[in-house]
Amino acid sequence: MNKDCIFCRIISGEIQSDIIYQDEEVIAIRDINPQAPTHLLVLPRAHIPSLADVGADQEQLLGHLVHVANELAKSEGIAEKGYRLVINCGLEAGQEVPHLHLHLLGGRPLGKLG
Ligand code: AMP
Ligand code: ZN
Repeated sequence: MNKDCIFCRIISGEIQSDIIYQDEEVIAIRDINPQAPTHLLVLPRAHIPSLADVGADQEQLLGHLVHVANELAKSEGIAEKGYRLVINCGLEAGQEVPHLHLHLLGGRPLGKLG
């Protein structure tokens, strides 16, 4: 828990959000500024600042984040047509919130990355 971190404050319940899924390790919320009809964020409860901080100890956690995102793609009804998982890491990737999170995007053609 980092008291200056907006996602930690969401996880603790201090800040309200639209929680779609939660278990012991992760929670998933709806993005407040959606870039697609489905735009969820899947985040670990632990305050890990970025993807660059993921090491051998977090291998299982990262796999779990992806697994939860895949299950949510199914429950959101976007699994068949296709979806995108994005992790922004650092300044030039546009990471705004320094708490590891995975974007689940879908529900429209997403175009090529570039
Ligand atoms: P990133 O740019 O990868 O760090 O993504 C941060 C994401 O968090 C953005 O898509 C924001 O719209 C989203 N976001 C910021 N504050 C909140 C919030 N309080 N509830 C839900 N999503 C948020
Ligand atoms: Zn945090």
